[in-house]
Amino acid sequence: MIDIHAHLCFRDFAESRESIADECEKEMQAVIVTSARLEEGICALDLCSRHEKLFPTIGFHPVEGGTEVRRIMELARERQDEIVGIGEVGLDYHWVRDEAKRRQQKEVFSGFIELAEELKKPLVLHCWDAEEDAFEMVRNANVPVIFHSYTGPKELVPGILEHDNFYISISTHVLLSKHLRKLAKLVPLERMTLETDAPFLSPYKYMQAKGAVGKLKPGFDPEKNYPWNIQFSAEKIAELKGVDTADVIAKTSANARLVFGLRI
Ligand SMILES: [Zn+2]
Repeated sequence: MIDIHAHLCFRDFAESRESIADECEKEMQAVIVTSARLEEGICALDLCSRHEKLFPTIGFHPVEGGTEVRRIMELARERQDEIVGIGEVGLDYHWVRDEAKRRQQKEVFSGFIELAEELKKPLVLHCWDAEEDAFEMVRNANVPVIFHSYTGPKELVPGILEHDNFYISISTHVLLSKHLRKLAKLVPLERMTLETDAPFLSPYKYMQAKGAVGKLKPGFDPEKNYPWNIQFSAEKIAELKGVDTADVIAKTSANARLVFGLRI
């Protein structure tokens, strides 16, 4: 199993980070440790340098990224041999209504698209309620693009899939969201990746409703999400598509290895 988007360096994991990383070494084939701001990126580089199955990306969240865009770009260039992607980066219209601010997001994002092309790294795209504009901006990019935690309109999916190296990433929220279950049915396994967006999107409520809380790994706060929980998404997607869970895991992992160039 490969989780392509886990914020292991998010502040919520300050206490448990090392034990989560150790557990990932046991349970996962790989985890892409994403970053959304400078200090998270620095932490991701450090954490991944000490754990064989963890791989960092460097990015800038369109709303919560802070003010250090230039420094983040420098860091990505300096550490280009270690990072496996640029992200998360993109557009967020969910929280930002102001047109001038949206234009600013686009400017910053276009800088990161150029950076990904320069470094020949895939883009991990954040595009909450901004899917159409984000797609317009990446459609001519000559690097692979992963639409991270995609929750956008299903009408956009065929257009995305026309691009051979574009992938749609389904989060553990598929367990709780009807819209995501529809999307998961629509996206072929050949073009899908799995992710948690940990520590967010915990499957706890779903497991509670199913009376299956006991299946969550003991010793870890159940209200948070962890990379190994993509097992539950894989089971749900297998059920939706009428295929084996092993098949979902094998295909989504192969996609992740290909996009991020993982030698594992
Ligand atoms: Zn994220």
